[in-house]
Amino acid sequence: MLELLFLLLPVAMGYGWFMGRNSVKQNDHSAKQALSIKYSTGLNYLLSNQQDKAIDYLLEALKVEDDTVEAHFAMANLFRRRGELDRALKVHEHLVRQKHLPSKDKQQAAYELGKDFFSAGLYDRAENMFEKLLKSKHYGLKSLDYLMRIYQSTKDWSKGVSHKKAIVKTKDKKLLHNLANFYCELATNALEQDNFIEVIELLELALTYDANSCRANWLLAQIYEKHQQYNEACRCYQDIYHQDKEFFPDVIDQMQNCYHQLDADDEYFQFIKKVYDETAGSSALIKYLSHIEAKFGKAKAKEFILLALKKRPTIKGFKHFIKMQMLNSTEKDNTENLDMIKELIAAYLNLKPRYSCRTCGFNSSKHYWACPSCHDWEQLKPVRGLEGE
Ligand SMILES: [Zn+2]
Repeated sequence: MLELLFLLLPVAMGYGWFMGRNSVKQNDHSAKQALSIKYSTGLNYLLSNQQDKAIDYLLEALKVEDDTVEAHFAMANLFRRRGELDRALKVHEHLVRQKHLPSKDKQQAAYELGKDFFSAGLYDRAENMFEKLLKSKHYGLKSLDYLMRIYQSTKDWSKGVSHKKAIVKTKDKKLLHNLANFYCELATNALEQDNFIEVIELLELALTYDANSCRANWLLAQIYEKHQQYNEACRCYQDIYHQDKEFFPDVIDQMQNCYHQLDADDEYFQFIKKVYDETAGSSALIKYLSHIEAKFGKAKAKEFILLALKKRPTIKGFKHFIKMQMLNSTEKDNTENLDMIKELIAAYLNLKPRYSCRTCGFNSSKHYWACPSCHDWEQLKPVRGLEGE
């Protein structure tokens, strides 16, 4: 409570200053008196720890004029930053009710009120506010962004895609990326009902709005693979690599299977060599080693991995090296020791998260298309560095 008093006292003082300034401007003695009574009543409530009553009186005491509207916004933002949403809401609602304000201020008040409703989880009311602002020059894009966040929270994918025209008009890359993910969500639902034609149509729409949607290509590849259309599946996996190299380790096995079904293993390893040359990733290294061993023998494979680990050491690569040593060892004791080291490394790696969010740093062993922490789409990718790729 004491903390609140310290917050509100400066606000009240600010109000006093504004009030005085307005009163001098207006030179209206009776108005000044009325305001003084409200102001001192507000201050009394504040001092007797009745903050909500104090806010009511102080809001009434200060008439919202062009030169005081900023003070109202500042006070509401202060409440919001302190997590006191009910108080921020009260101030913003007070501002929204002021019919005489210029259009830009009215829109700002509506936008801030929408944000309060959103933070409080009152999505229906937030949606209502943001929808009214869609045509606003200053708040249209931001409101559209909030609407998409609301639909993401409520999993209302159809409502999100109904705004596609407005999103395309903005040419905003993040919004287009979100829209593509909404189509991917709809496609995933259609996939559960084995509605393949609809799935492909939805995924093609996703790629229309965001040509770099790895997720759309990943889903397309699954369907093509399921229907033994391996050429198409391989093309999708290649697209994923070109769209986002960091995603590629997660599809490296499925891609190998598709090339194998086409009897095109050599072509696959050619591609993997290119991936390894360009990324030096441990998954690509391990795949490529199997090819070197099959073509040129164990000694060449060992030479290759030692050189690779010297250049770029990773625990995953080291674990594979131990595995190779075990397979080459003929002494029983040696094999047992190596097996113990390999198990220890495996246990260590199991404790480490496999994915990290490139936006907020959230770590997870499980993959999510939308980050559970910051809610950004397709930002959870395999960890890079010593303990990752
Ligand atoms: Zn995140």
